[in-house]
Amino acid sequence: MSIMKILETMDYGVAPENTDEAMDWLHGHDKKFGQFINGEFIQDKKNKYFNTYNPANGEKLAEITQGTKKDVDVAVKAANIAQDSWAKLSGFQRAKYLYSIARLIQKHSRLFSVLESLDNGKPIRESRDIDIPLVIRHFYHHAGWAQLMEDKLDDYEAIGVAGQIIPWNFPLLMMAWKIAPALAAGNTVVLKPAEYTSLTALLFAEICQQAGLPKGVVNIVTGDGKTGSLIVNHKDINKIAFTGSTAVGRLIREQTAGTGKKLTLELGGKSAFIVFDDADIDSAIEGLVDAIWFNQGQVCCAGSRLLVQESIADRFHEKLKARMTKLRVGNPLDKSIDIGAIVDESQQKQIASLVKIGIEEGAEIFQPDCSFPKVGCFYPPTLLTEVDTSHHLAQEEIFGPVLISMTFRTPSEAVALANNTRYGLACSIWSENINLAMDMAPKVIAGVVWINCTNQFDAAAGFGGKKESGFGREGGIEGMYAYLKPKYEKKLKVAKAIKSFELKTKNSLATVDRTPKFYIGGKQSRPDGGYSQAVVSAKGELLAHIGKGNRKDIRNAVEATTKATGWTNTTAHNRAQVLYFIAENLALRVDEFATHIQSLTGNSKKDAEKEVYASIERLFYYAAYADKLDGAVHTVPVRGVVLAMPEANGIMGIVCPDECPLLGFVSLMAASISMGNRVVMIPSETSALMALEFYQILETSDVPAGVVNIITGDKNELAQVLADHYEVESIWYFGDQTGSTMVEKASAASLKRTWVNNGKSRDWFDNKVSQGKEFLNQATDVKNIWTPYGE
Ligand code: NAD
Repeated sequence: MSIMKILETMDYGVAPENTDEAMDWLHGHDKKFGQFINGEFIQDKKNKYFNTYNPANGEKLAEITQGTKKDVDVAVKAANIAQDSWAKLSGFQRAKYLYSIARLIQKHSRLFSVLESLDNGKPIRESRDIDIPLVIRHFYHHAGWAQLMEDKLDDYEAIGVAGQIIPWNFPLLMMAWKIAPALAAGNTVVLKPAEYTSLTALLFAEICQQAGLPKGVVNIVTGDGKTGSLIVNHKDINKIAFTGSTAVGRLIREQTAGTGKKLTLELGGKSAFIVFDDADIDSAIEGLVDAIWFNQGQVCCAGSRLLVQESIADRFHEKLKARMTKLRVGNPLDKSIDIGAIVDESQQKQIASLVKIGIEEGAEIFQPDCSFPKVGCFYPPTLLTEVDTSHHLAQEEIFGPVLISMTFRTPSEAVALANNTRYGLACSIWSENINLAMDMAPKVIAGVVWINCTNQFDAAAGFGGKKESGFGREGGIEGMYAYLKPKYEKKLKVAKAIKSFELKTKNSLATVDRTPKFYIGGKQSRPDGGYSQAVVSAKGELLAHIGKGNRKDIRNAVEATTKATGWTNTTAHNRAQVLYFIAENLALRVDEFATHIQSLTGNSKKDAEKEVYASIERLFYYAAYADKLDGAVHTVPVRGVVLAMPEANGIMGIVCPDECPLLGFVSLMAASISMGNRVVMIPSETSALMALEFYQILETSDVPAGVVNIITGDKNELAQVLADHYEVESIWYFGDQTGSTMVEKASAASLKRTWVNNGKSRDWFDNKVSQGKEFLNQATDVKNIWTPYGE
């Protein structure tokens, strides 16, 4: 088109990106790639290959190796051999490697961008201006963390070999999110890119060579889900970091259960984009374009559910439709294209079939009359209105350029709608009233909240989800914790089973028969099943009969926690006061509790008293922390701040250890409730009576009803019910290996966060091991709230 013609029509001319260098790179490898293992590209004659295509025109780009068991074994072995010396390098030495990687990617940034767009179909504008700069930023930022490990994370050390599995929507960026923190912390990695998009990971392997990275520190094994599964199930891998679909995440949770492997899951989403009537509408429309049409909507945190206030809904939809007609769909390598190609035909078909379901259910569809190439995988920007909460599309992740819209009247209705999903990844809130937006932010269940902005990411700010969007954070210090373990962990020993004592005399010690009940919703409550079990002292005397809880008792206890939201929302100062009060009341009854401990354990009076005093001190410790886990204000490269706010997990199930009947129970209860959680406590069988005595302390210490609930009975049976319960958001299990495995496996259904001891015991008197940061981190989740400045 001539310049005169362009000036006449004011239409876009074509602005194609040059692909020569990327094609040269592919040809330089004969368009065929082996695995990158132990610092070299390896090709085995027996390997099978699959093709990777350019989704924008269907042309084959290269052949990629399908990773076999042998490949994974060799890669894991190389990573294992390299790990020790990598972790032993000083932080400064590791930082230098990460810095070199950042510099080298920067130097080849255009090649990376073009290759990414060719392989994935995303507009070059996005890979060039968003993905690759963020990749570079991650390596710089984490060079910093490597440097500061000794300063800031001295109590922690590398986990070992990390198996990392990533999706196709942000191939290089997801890789950087995984590799940079893992390496900074001293781990080595075996990473598998998604089968549609392996090329930039393989180019990155060359960068590792150029940076002189020690052999085996980074290994890239390509292949499909079968290769991924080999990594997940490899016995010498210590940590799995997975980003992908919720279905595969769930499977991985099940497969890693009981193996001791650490796990972080970044899964799907159905994030709300909330627009209030006082929002700057034009900005919100532009925000929405970035929320749902960025990367063709193939974004886990895409603002795929528009919630617009009813009073402005019609006007908003009109403006939105007008804006949609201006979106340009087409060749991703054209620099003025807004929407590129869908990654693969199968994905395109999936989007089309979900939209069809939406229309059949009564949604009204709007697609602008836009032209796009006949060849290749393209899908037009789509708006579906008249969608109801019961509709399939209000719940299912579409993972394409399709927006659904619903309306609300009041802020509380907006919160209810935003939270009406099994996911909990992100939320965008648009209002010129910052008070309203800041009031909404803690109420929405999401790992990330963007106020008057959307899809903002930075290496300094954690990213990750809640509920079925997974657990764990990437970025910031939270992301570092995901690749670290406390140094004490390796010293923990397998616990010796503590057996209940045998009854030697039928005489009860109590003059009046004692039947301590459960403690549910601030009241004593009889077991639903009407069964009880005997508690026998160390001397073989019958101490009491206590209830045997069942599924219904647990359900009642969980229901009580759901009503105690006031505890989560009250001030930290108030929570501290209650914890101090519990300590005060326990201090008044030291003798009594020491006697209980003595009779339950056979410990000496001195040791029993020591346990009570240690419990009082632990209550003071968490009372002190209640208002001191402050969070942070991250300095990200935008005009604004990111508030990293630790939030309570919510409803927790806590299964207590056999050892230290009082101190074990108090340590776990105090850590969790100090952060605002409401808990269902399952004491161990050997210490159940102690826990039931303890509710007399709770009753007199102003603990609101439903904050602490205590059910006794078969520990593992009750733990199973807790792990199965959909409303329990997190579970801590301190018991045997069987129970640990069961809890992790059962939690896969609802993808709740778990913390299990894998049968290891700890010294509950040792403050370094049994209180502190690890407990506080496990009791909270960090929500990152992005708040830009300026008009
Ligand atoms: P996917 O789960 O199908 O695949 C993701 C990766 O897992 C791929 O590398 C794949 O080969 C591998 N894989 C498949 N089956 C496996 C198995 N049984 N064991 C081990 N690995 C296996 O997901 P996808 O379609 O590639 O990606 C889209 C999904 O990813 C969406 O649901 C999206 O929301 C999610 N996602 C989440 C985030 C986040 O940070 N929360 C980021 C990007 C994408």
